[in-house]
Amino acid sequence: MREINVKLITEEVRELCMEANTNLGEDVLQAFDRAMEKEESPLGLEILKELKENARIAKEERVAMCQDTGFAVVFVELGQDVHLIGGDLKEAIFEGVRQGYQDGYLRKSICHPFTRANTGDNTPAIIHTEIVSGDEVKITVAPKGGGSENMSRVIMLTPSDGVEGIKRYVLQRVKESGSNPCPPTIVGVGIGGTFEEAALLAKKSLLRPLGSKNPDLELDQLEFDLLTEINKLGIGPQGLGGRTTSLAVHILMMPCHIASFPLAVNIQCHAQRHKEAII
Ligand code: SF4
Repeated sequence: MREINVKLITEEVRELCMEANTNLGEDVLQAFDRAMEKEESPLGLEILKELKENARIAKEERVAMCQDTGFAVVFVELGQDVHLIGGDLKEAIFEGVRQGYQDGYLRKSICHPFTRANTGDNTPAIIHTEIVSGDEVKITVAPKGGGSENMSRVIMLTPSDGVEGIKRYVLQRVKESGSNPCPPTIVGVGIGGTFEEAALLAKKSLLRPLGSKNPDLELDQLEFDLLTEINKLGIGPQGLGGRTTSLAVHILMMPCHIASFPLAVNIQCHAQRHKEAII
């Protein structure tokens, strides 16, 4: 059994909050480049260039790439041979979020749903913990902006809706979202499981590097077909027209109940932020 002091987790979460908000992944920058090669709208092209420039400034000056620095969503893969010492895991993560948002000058965006009073330190974080084999802890911090999260949905399709039903709903969701989620977007799709698991699958699918293939060939084809149709909608970068409405569609799927067909669409804006560390 390996002992890990939760203070290390606080330090990592603090750093990951700042890093995720200021340093856009190389895979996203490369996806911008690929989109620029295809974008026919002059305005769309200009916006894509500005998004790259924005990412460069954010990284070099270590400032947030967007004013909405998001809800701190934290994925923890906890090795079953790890014994956490020195405190409570949840509180250690919250403390890392507090410090990261304070020290990184990141906007605190979390409030009471009724009074809208700000909690003041961007906590609580949303924590998804999974027990895995091994003696390591993997932490991924994925700040999620409100604009794109607001456009996300879970729907319980009927089994007879089939793959065509998925295509119809995803396309309709992107179309209705328009410019609200700050396109170009990444469309995370969760299929199967239960109501809540479908939503988690959709969110987890966003962690896959852009430009990578889905290991399931059938889903890979579905991702390609959906992306092709989405980019015919003409919404374009920032909703001002063009063919780059989305950079990618990512799908995760699992079995579901014989009577159910859950589908979740988690839309991610171009500020595709996530960073990870292994302790
Ligand atoms: S949707 Fe994304 S890019 Fe738009 S304001 Fe929110 S975090 Fe920023």
